[in-house]
Amino acid sequence: MYRTHNCGELKMENVGERVILSGWVQKSRDLGGMTFVDLRDRYGITQLVFNMESDTGLCGEARKLGREFVVKAEGMVAERSNKNLQIPTGHIEIRVEKLEVLNSSNTPPFTIEENTDGGDDLRMKYRYLDLRRVVVRENLQLRHRMAIEIRKYLSEEGFMEVETPVLIKSTPEGARDFVVPSRMNPGEFYALPQSPQTFKQLLMVAGFDKYFQIVKCFRDEDLRADRQPEFTQIDCEMSFVERDDILTAFEGLAKHLFESIKGVEIEGSFPKMLYVDAMSRYGNDKPDIRFEMELSEMSDLVKGKGFQVFDSVEYVGGICATRCAGYSRKQLDALTDWVKRPQIGMKGLVYVKYNEDGTLKSSVDKFYDETALKQWVELFEAKPGDLILVLAGDRELTLKALSELRLEMGNRLELRDPEVFKPLWVVDFPLLEWDEESKRFHAMHHPFTSPYEEDLELFRTDPGKVRARAYDLVINGVEIGGGSIRIHDEGLQKQMFDNLGFTEEEARKQFGFLMSAFRYGAPPHGGIAFGFDRWVALFAGIESIRDVIAFPKNNAGRDMMIDTPSTISNEQLDELSLKVSKQPPK
Ligand code: ASP
Repeated sequence: MYRTHNCGELKMENVGERVILSGWVQKSRDLGGMTFVDLRDRYGITQLVFNMESDTGLCGEARKLGREFVVKAEGMVAERSNKNLQIPTGHIEIRVEKLEVLNSSNTPPFTIEENTDGGDDLRMKYRYLDLRRVVVRENLQLRHRMAIEIRKYLSEEGFMEVETPVLIKSTPEGARDFVVPSRMNPGEFYALPQSPQTFKQLLMVAGFDKYFQIVKCFRDEDLRADRQPEFTQIDCEMSFVERDDILTAFEGLAKHLFESIKGVEIEGSFPKMLYVDAMSRYGNDKPDIRFEMELSEMSDLVKGKGFQVFDSVEYVGGICATRCAGYSRKQLDALTDWVKRPQIGMKGLVYVKYNEDGTLKSSVDKFYDETALKQWVELFEAKPGDLILVLAGDRELTLKALSELRLEMGNRLELRDPEVFKPLWVVDFPLLEWDEESKRFHAMHHPFTSPYEEDLELFRTDPGKVRARAYDLVINGVEIGGGSIRIHDEGLQKQMFDNLGFTEEEARKQFGFLMSAFRYGAPPHGGIAFGFDRWVALFAGIESIRDVIAFPKNNAGRDMMIDTPSTISNEQLDELSLKVSKQPPK
């Protein structure tokens, strides 16, 4: 028998019991006549004590235990004289009478404790050791609990989980596909799904009515902290629904997760914001609405006053940072450098201090007198003590920069409270997005998204203005999910492919199966997919989705532990009818 209890459950009421525990040596301390060992397993840590006076040579053995040795200890539960109130087992200890080393361990390459000294790549190389750390394990436990609650809630609401294939054909979610060569069909390839989009639509044609799946998706994109080449979606689809039916259904899911996992009750229905408003008020299609500090366009107000910088640009706008008028010259210079960083890309920063005494001081006093600056103050409804920050340039770039500046000031002013959750639906995205590189329109979401009927005319005159029946769920500035009402009519779907520049032949080759399904009674349908990793990270209060994935890849898309991607043998290449034209660097 390896254990009667785990390392996280013994309490005062067990004092006097004989127990057996097995686990890993977290650390040991030698205090003259006594040796203390912290024994760890998934459930917690229990202190083992070896006493020089009472034992039979065990103390010597205990001293030889290294970090991460696997041991089995038998002994009596006793009350501790020096209690540790930080941990549930901190009232007791085990007076060990028998000790067995089940396995030894090399010295781990980093400390397996709350704050580790291991760098990212090292921790990923030895991920199985990193996963022994409580913080990392807790993230995965949270993930597990969320998956259970999602399955429970959606099943109760009548959704059915259906698995869809992984070896498929390109799906158009806007990223590059990962491809898999087919041995049995030389020269042909499968693609890994960027999402199960077409399959869930086919399930609606099949009459499944309400579908969901917690599913792996694959996108070959450049990686960032919140991106992984393989990630998990909560993928959903419903039939005979309009937009608000879907929003209501998934608001239900979101509320259930908030309540069951975070103990947070969100009252009322989530606010909805038009995409165009999100862009003009926050410069961002995923606004963090935990705080205000909205953007205001100032172009009309400031142009034509002889200030060349403002006169020559497409857009001038700003934000008003409360209680920041006291910023020193040095702080303002630093902020100016901040907006000039390549990631933000601005040429400079204009400010107006609305001092506590009511006076105004700006960096453009030469061009704007007090009367003019008072208009700025009015526009922003600024109060004494506030600081107005203004950026100018190309519209799109400046809105983006203002959005970043707003978030930065939000951080500095501690307005982004991690304990507060403010969900919001952003709706009516543009259907199409202009791509400068290929000089044509692309689907902003994917080509199956339904346009508003009343906008169809615009296809001919101003395609960029056509609105999609698409929506995103945004929580605290993080895009948690997105979806749309779909096209379910073959004619409209053909027109859509045509607008996106597909020839009829291309459309048929790639999506013929879907169009033919639309000929057999496709119901009106729509759906949504949530980024499960991001949602878990949001609830865990961390930025990187890597920390909520058991075996993640690094920024170069490598799995450091199993060391992949890797080359394959010539036999395998031959079998797959492949020739490699570029060898990896040695
Ligand atoms: N398939 C879409 C995506 O992965 C979501 C959806 O439209 O349901 O982004």
